[in-house]
Parts: sequence; C-alpha cells; structure tokens
Amino acid sequence: MKPIDYINRENLYGAHNYHPLPVVLDRGEGVFVWDIEGKRYFDFLSAYSAVNQGHCHPKIINALIQQASRLTLTSRAFYNSTLGEYEEFVTKYFCYDKVLPMNTGVEGDETALKLCRKWAYTRKGIAENQAKIIVCDGNFHGRTITVISMSTDPDSYGGFGPFTPGFIKIPYNDIPALKLALEDPNIAGFLVEPIQGEAGVFVPDEGYLRTAFNLCKAKNVLFIADEVQTGIARTGKLLACDHEQVRPDILILGKALSGGVYPISAVLADDDIMLTIKPGEHGSTFGGNPIAAKVAIAALEVIKDEKLAENAERLGKIFRSELLNIKSNRIELIRGKGLLNAAIIRPKGSQTAWDVCLALKENGLLAKPTHDHIIRFAPPLVITEEQVMEAAGIIRKTIEWM
Ligand code: PLP
Repeated sequence: MKPIDYINRENLYGAHNYHPLPVVLDRGEGVFVWDIEGKRYFDFLSAYSAVNQGHCHPKIINALIQQASRLTLTSRAFYNSTLGEYEEFVTKYFCYDKVLPMNTGVEGDETALKLCRKWAYTRKGIAENQAKIIVCDGNFHGRTITVISMSTDPDSYGGFGPFTPGFIKIPYNDIPALKLALEDPNIAGFLVEPIQGEAGVFVPDEGYLRTAFNLCKAKNVLFIADEVQTGIARTGKLLACDHEQVRPDILILGKALSGGVYPISAVLADDDIMLTIKPGEHGSTFGGNPIAAKVAIAALEVIKDEKLAENAERLGKIFRSELLNIKSNRIELIRGKGLLNAAIIRPKGSQTAWDVCLALKENGLLAKPTHDHIIRFAPPLVITEEQVMEAAGIIRKTIEWM
C-alpha cells in the first residue's frame, strides 16, 4: 500500500473529526518518528505533549509488557496488587493526600468539576445546584458536553447545545476580571490552564497564577489547575504552577503521565476535598487499572531519572533564541516556556500556518497548526542540544525559503 492508500482508507472508514497532515507514521523512537516509506521526522508535536519521555521509551514499554502478561484489569470492584503502589507513589511524587485515577484528560477535568461542586455543597455551604465555577476565555479542557459548555471556541461548542450551566467565563490573564467574578458568593472554583496550550501557547503575565491563587484563597474558592498539557516537565518545571510556587487545590494530569503509551489521567487533592466523593458516586471501569499503574510509575520515574524538566528549561531557551534569529517577516512572534513554544505566522497570499507545516514535513519535521496562524513546537523532552539545533535549522531553512 502507498501512503495515499492509508489516507484514503482512514477517510473512508473513520469519522472526519480530525484533519491530519498527510503523513503516515509507522514507527517511533525518542524524538523521531518514521513514515511507512522509512523517511525520518523530528516529532515536534509529541502527541500534543503526551510523549514527553520520547517515543517507545524502553523503561515504560518494559513496564507495560511485564504487567500486560500478569494482570491487565480487575475493575475497582476488587483490590489489586498494583493500584495502591501507584497511589502511594503518585501522591508522594506530587505531594497530595489522595489521587483519583481516570483515563483521559477530559475525564480528569470532569472529575475535578464534580469534586469542586461536591466540596462546595458539603464544605463551603453553597446551596444545592447553585455552585458556579469560573473558567477562562480561550480555554481547552477537552471534548465532552460539560467541558465544551465552558468553551469560547465555536469549533468546540458550535452545534452541540444545550450546554451544562454553572460556568462563568472571564478573560484569561485578567486579574481585575477574576477579582470581580469572585465577588459572587456562589463561586466554588476557578479552573485554569497555567499556559493555554491549544489556544496557541498563551503564556500569562508573570505573577498571574500566584495572584489568582491568592485571590481564590481569600474567598475560599478552589484553585483548580488543568496541567494535562503543561504538566510533567513540559514547561521546564515538573508543573507549570511550580514557576510561581502555586500548589493547586485540585491538580489535573493526563497525557505524559503515561509517556504516551496508554491513556492515563489523574486528579490529585487533599482529603478535605477528595473525601467528599463517596463510594459509587464517581469512577471508571479502566481508571487505575494495573497496566496504567505500572506504566505511570515508570513514566514518572523517567522524568526524574533523566532530569527532563531541567532539559526542557535549558533547551527551551536555546530553541526560542534560535527561532528569534530567523530572518523572515513570516514570523510575527515567538512565545513559550520550556519546550512548549509557538510561532505566530504572518499569512502570505493564501499561505497559512498549514502550508508552513506541509513544508516543514517535506524537510523532516512534524508540527501542527493550532488555529490558522499559530504553529506549536513541542518536541519530546529527551531531545538533545544537537537535535534542537538541527531541528531549529530545519525550521529556519523552511521559513526563510517560503
Ligand atoms: N486539558 C488540556 C489542557 C488539554 O490540552 C487537553 C488535550 O489537549 C485536555 C484537557 C483533554 O485531554 P484528552 O484529549 O486526553 O481528553
């Protein structure tokens, strides 16, 4: 079969809910992926930051294989020999009393929203069904009906109403707007991405997260951080909130919690919040299964053993300075933190960021536009300085020639 045959087959039998770049991948190792014809590419998307530890990391794959041949799924109807080990490991790793294991990022967000509402009614004393949660314009927390009810992007919510009530939308990175919204006594929580990834890598002003956290504390409102994309070393610290020494009341993790090997998400909180949910009130058949438990432990060990946060911090600076040196008026702005970066592309005629990504692909680097004019660059964090320089060279050559 030729690449076009693979593409046509997906188009014929799969729903058209994605618009992939025309490349058919077959193999991955570290920072590289190979297409079915053997051409090698730098992976500068990392499955939307799920593959922080690099493709097919041997330690994580070994954990998967070992556990897969022993016990895969018991459901939570019974105890098993791995879940407690993982729960102890992950809560000590992130310094919280408890973890609630789920599978996908959006389930993590849904779990956090339910926890926040439960806490509001049982601890804060908000009247039943009156709790409100503040969210930010431009947010991306996933694709379920409740989560798109928080969205301000018509591509996410358009045509899918009616929506879940109880969300107050304010501009991102706007402290006065948050202050005003917090005046409502029925506010239970503030859900925020420390950097808005899908919106185009919007990095808020320095001090925003710390001030927002302090304002929430003053009003007995839960500060909920969605670190599904920014967490697990991506931005140069274990968590993006660590840049401002903020410890969220509820922390949502996903993606790189498995190194891209398996769908694993987690919600972390202390007892006062987590124990408001009682047996039978929330869960998932696959959440916290034995394979996920072992894979997540291995994935988190790799982050520390290989000092991936430090690598992201150091190489992110080098990468941004290389991009800033590109001599082309096609680049309007470079922004980011650690190895979560974006280039804002100035359109030329009918050429958009999509065309730049097609040209990058031809030159051996995969990246995907987010919206029409932004390209996110997020390589696996195991990338070396030499590889950063080579990849930046490909980006320079491509953009300067377009
Ligand atoms: N939250 C954030 C910040 C995300 O970036 C994403 C996915 O991109 C999600 C939640 C949803 O994760 P999933 O696609 O695993 O449901």
